[in-house]
Amino acid sequence: MAVEPDHNLIDLLGAPDPALEAVASGLSRVYPLGTTINAAGRLEIGGCDTIELAREFGTPAYIVAEDDIRARARAFRAAMAARCADFDVLFASKAFPCVAVYQLLAQEGLACDVASGGELHLALAGGFDPARIYMHGNAKSSSELAAALDAGVGQIVIDSFDEIARLVTLLDGRTQRVLVRVTPGIKPSTHDFISTGQLDSKFGMPLDVARKAIDLINATSGLELVGLHMHIGSQIFELESFRRSIQEIAKLGDFPVYDLGGGLGVAYTAADGPPSIDSYVEAKVSAANAQLGPDKRLLIEPGRSLVANSGVTLYSVESVKRNVSTYVAVDGGMSDNLRPMLYGATYEAAIADRMGPGGERCHVAGKHCESGDMIVRDVDLVDPVAGDILVTPVTGAYGHAMANNYNGVPRAPVVFCRNGDARVVVRRETFDDLIVRDVS
Ligand code: PLP
Repeated sequence: MAVEPDHNLIDLLGAPDPALEAVASGLSRVYPLGTTINAAGRLEIGGCDTIELAREFGTPAYIVAEDDIRARARAFRAAMAARCADFDVLFASKAFPCVAVYQLLAQEGLACDVASGGELHLALAGGFDPARIYMHGNAKSSSELAAALDAGVGQIVIDSFDEIARLVTLLDGRTQRVLVRVTPGIKPSTHDFISTGQLDSKFGMPLDVARKAIDLINATSGLELVGLHMHIGSQIFELESFRRSIQEIAKLGDFPVYDLGGGLGVAYTAADGPPSIDSYVEAKVSAANAQLGPDKRLLIEPGRSLVANSGVTLYSVESVKRNVSTYVAVDGGMSDNLRPMLYGATYEAAIADRMGPGGERCHVAGKHCESGDMIVRDVDLVDPVAGDILVTPVTGAYGHAMANNYNGVPRAPVVFCRNGDARVVVRRETFDDLIVRDVS
């Protein structure tokens, strides 16, 4: 575990509430704001003792510090407000699609990006004003487009000519505002699987194709083109890619609205040094002002950087084996966190009542029937034994979102913690839930 206090997050959030500042010295800065080690030597998230949380809610469980998400949402809005007269911050809800998170971010004044009919349903259930919902997707079905029109979503982000043709047949006399998704031909330095801005992409359209789509939409009654959208990828640390892509889309002409996507990377381990929210916003807005003009409505769509660091996962250690390497096997794995298996993503881990530093070099293994089901490799754990509660930080984004039932494992609950109070916002699945859809 790293021992630096959390200067980076404090810088990132400007001057946060002092109650949130205390990511205790001796604790890695990747934990949620406000995380401490209490007098009993146990990790506390949102004022709640994690050993008690595991006892009360079981494991595995996603534990979320509600105030951490709120602080980051405020930081994004403040950074935009300081630089733009006309802006919106959209929650890219694929990162953490559960009603309580939608509710929280709607309360914080964010708009919302959805990428499917299901996410639209959740966003509406979470209380988002349909006029502030943006509908994405490279393969929107007719029923998803119809649901978006019926709900009255503010804008649909057009991704293909087929979609234009399909949308027109569904308008039924209505007018729909749209953006065109452009791939600017920029490949940021992130994993290939989360790069979306390169020309050869399943998302959006390269500039020459986008030009034709723009002409077609302008000639189509019932579709009102308000601007362009781009999203070049996720978990990006270098700001230059954002600047260069804005330069590229400027070649398409002048529009009132530009949605500049998400993409800001986060620290998964203490070794990661992502840019602050403020410098990310500064890079995008200053490039937009210079390249697109100073009077534009600018939208950004953070997902990961709003929610990733707010969450940790608690597991129970089921076995400790010393087979050449030491394997600490827990009661979850690729069913609650697919990212290590999909992208080779790295995480920290610790025993929740023996946080370190030091310990024995271990691999944290999942319970699934795949050798690749390894949650964290080469991490130091202090005297791990069966029955311990093990914590992996930074599981707020794309954890619950990608959860699955491999090996018939019921999906984990989401527990919000704040000021020492814990509440379940998504309950644990039961074995009966596993057969609810089986009809034979
Ligand atoms: N916008 C779009 C269109 C996306 O596809 C994504 C994620 O893939 C995002 C925004 C959010 O990206 P991130 O989670 O990196 O902020």
